[in-house]
Amino acid sequence: MSRIVFLNGSFLPLEDAKVPFMDRGFLFGDGIYEGIGVLNGRLVDNEAHLERLERSLREVRIANPYSRAEWTRLEEELVRRNGMVEGFLYFQVTRGVSERDFFFPEDAQPTVAMFTQAKSIVHAPVAETGIAVVTVPDLRWERRDIKAISLLAQVLAKQTAKEAGAQEAWMVEDGFVTEGGSSSAFIITKAGAVVVRPLSHAILPGITRKSLLELSKEEGIVLEERRFTVEEAYDAAEAFLTSASNFILPVVTIDGRPVADGKPGPLTQKLRQLYLKMAGAPAMAAE
Ligand code: PMP
Repeated sequence: MSRIVFLNGSFLPLEDAKVPFMDRGFLFGDGIYEGIGVLNGRLVDNEAHLERLERSLREVRIANPYSRAEWTRLEEELVRRNGMVEGFLYFQVTRGVSERDFFFPEDAQPTVAMFTQAKSIVHAPVAETGIAVVTVPDLRWERRDIKAISLLAQVLAKQTAKEAGAQEAWMVEDGFVTEGGSSSAFIITKAGAVVVRPLSHAILPGITRKSLLELSKEEGIVLEERRFTVEEAYDAAEAFLTSASNFILPVVTIDGRPVADGKPGPLTQKLRQLYLKMAGAPAMAAE
């Protein structure tokens, strides 16, 4: 069965889904996107993702084509049509199709494209082994809180990481880690505090980050929302990342240096289990 995608009001096979040449997403990267985890056929934290979508659209002044209820219906329908149990749902909204001109077009309709990617999240091998990250300069613009489709800096950062044998890049500005190329960055201090950069225009407000902070508060885990340096990360007791497509992954080396003993840390593993339980993975929850 070919993958079914959603494009501008229709569900259709991927090979039939065509976007016009003059789409501003293609020409300018003029659009925003969302990515949502799917577990047991259910969208994880969908309301929070749709809230962030609404905010991103407002910030770049693209009219939201659907209500929250309509978005949810379309997302659920796409998951159902693809028989997807576990993975990732992606969608983007661009400013639409018009002759190439920087000014907003007067009459263009936003282009809406949505697809699914089946993927093992709960039993991903990297969740057991942990991943390597390397640090790179953060080359992005100053509104990283907007989930813009223009991701050239992250493409370059993540390719650098891959070529260094790592799975993620941690971007660094003024000596402080901002976030991962496509994830939020966390460390745990030797005193057991979970440290994450506070929200600002410098980072994307990660939805997995938000849920994890709520879960940690409920568990009485000490949280420090503050910036941390690369040196502090090298010296941390544990490190991990969060994202909708991976949930929580242990980070076991940074720039080739092992984090503590170079194995996934106990608090990271506990947080992953808490998150899995919240996301509705009952078989893992009892461990
Ligand atoms: N930061 C960046 C730069 C990202 O691209 C992502 C994932 N899209 C995240 C953080 C994590 O956000 P979320 O938990 O909402 O996937």
